[in-house]
Amino acid sequence: MADVLTEKQRHYNMSRIRSKNTKPEEVVRKYLFSKGFRYRKNDARYPGKPDIVLSKYKTVIFIHGCFWHQHPGCKAARIPDTNSEFWKSKFEKNIDVKEKRELEEAGWKAIVLWECEISTKKKREIRLPALEDEIKSQL
Ligand SMILES: [Zn+2]
Repeated sequence: MADVLTEKQRHYNMSRIRSKNTKPEEVVRKYLFSKGFRYRKNDARYPGKPDIVLSKYKTVIFIHGCFWHQHPGCKAARIPDTNSEFWKSKFEKNIDVKEKRELEEAGWKAIVLWECEISTKKKREIRLPALEDEIKSQL
């Protein structure tokens, strides 16, 4: 049992270390960059420290890992049966109502993109152009 927990904690620590530049974020950034968008990354001056800040469009994007942010109804968000209380205490806060309202009151649009929405090439081919349209609609 002790070994299992250690293994999980190690894995958790690894995920935390990588969380600054996780792959889904890079996928979205690369796509937007290739379409001519320019942005800032992980800007702490905005509520919730968005992954992508598009000042020109007054839009911020949060890219959430389904497990760490507990995507509602998503099978990737399933909590392991063992040590479920341990896991529940570790989940990162979703962009909450307060942060979203703060952004909206300042005239910004906040888009939340879930990891599972862009997990395959086929899904990306649908979701990323839709994201692009959503951003452009802000101008
Ligand atoms: Zn999901």
